[in-house]
Amino acid sequence: MLSAMNNNKIIIVTGAGSGIGLALAKAYVAKGHQVIAADINASRLEQAASHLGANFIPQVLDVSQYEAWEALVENIQRDYGRLDLLFNNAGIMSSGEFDRLSLDSWQAMININLMGVIYGSRAAYSLMKQQGFGCIVNTASTAGVTPVLFSTSYVTTKHGVVGFSNSLREEAKPHGIKVVVVMPGLIDTGIFDAAIDDGNKSSRYMADNTPVGKISPERAAEYILDGLEKNRQQIIFPLVNKVIIHLYRFFPRLMTRLIVNNQQHSA
Ligand code: NAD
Repeated sequence: MLSAMNNNKIIIVTGAGSGIGLALAKAYVAKGHQVIAADINASRLEQAASHLGANFIPQVLDVSQYEAWEALVENIQRDYGRLDLLFNNAGIMSSGEFDRLSLDSWQAMININLMGVIYGSRAAYSLMKQQGFGCIVNTASTAGVTPVLFSTSYVTTKHGVVGFSNSLREEAKPHGIKVVVVMPGLIDTGIFDAAIDDGNKSSRYMADNTPVGKISPERAAEYILDGLEKNRQQIIFPLVNKVIIHLYRFFPRLMTRLIVNNQQHSA
């Protein structure tokens, strides 16, 4: 078993074919850890694998299929003997007025953004509980705390991820398992182009016209690694989003007005 031979971490990153997931996978591969890079998009994984070396282990996975998760974790237990870190990062976006969002797009959002996180956590939790250690890192969003105009389905799933993570954290502690939730602001990735848009304005248009700037996925990965090193339970970045989230908690009505006014200008 590889675990017996070295101190490298065994890490799953979902959504590792692009954006934040790919940046996280690259950062851990560069540190010499073994990354099971999971994504639904096989060609993205192949492309990344072609230049990232043997520690980037591509794995086609649809996070919304629980049986696939069970099989993946079983294989990891068999091949490596342990799982140190799980990044439930894969996600999709949607935009549109509530009465125009199709019920199919609602279901897809819930299946991938919320059930995907729950399934991944559930599959990893059993192994981590058995081994007595591990860390589950769930990617939510600033939209996991604040409202976002014309984005009810995305916001619903991200609020779910925040609540799920904050509750599971307390249950998991006695078993030596850490649960962390990540709440990024706008990151410059392809998520806006791949979004399910049922409204007048595309997610890409809204993101590009938001007055707050985007940061690169590589910078996002740095924030996440830094937060984990500092043992943070919630990793919120960049600074402007930290301020928005903290102010929203204390002044929800005022902040809702400010956030929604800004979003109305960009819509
Ligand atoms: P991205 O589109 O660049 O990457 C997402 C990856 O997830 C893609 O490679 C895609 O193929 C994969 N994926 C989609 N559905 C999947 C499924 N069913 N199973 C497995 N993989 C699947 O997006 P990103 O911006 O890097 O987003 C990563 C996470 O960060 C998401 O959860 C997103 O909601 C969150 N987030 C992004 C931003 C942002 O501004 N980009 C802000 C806050 C939170």
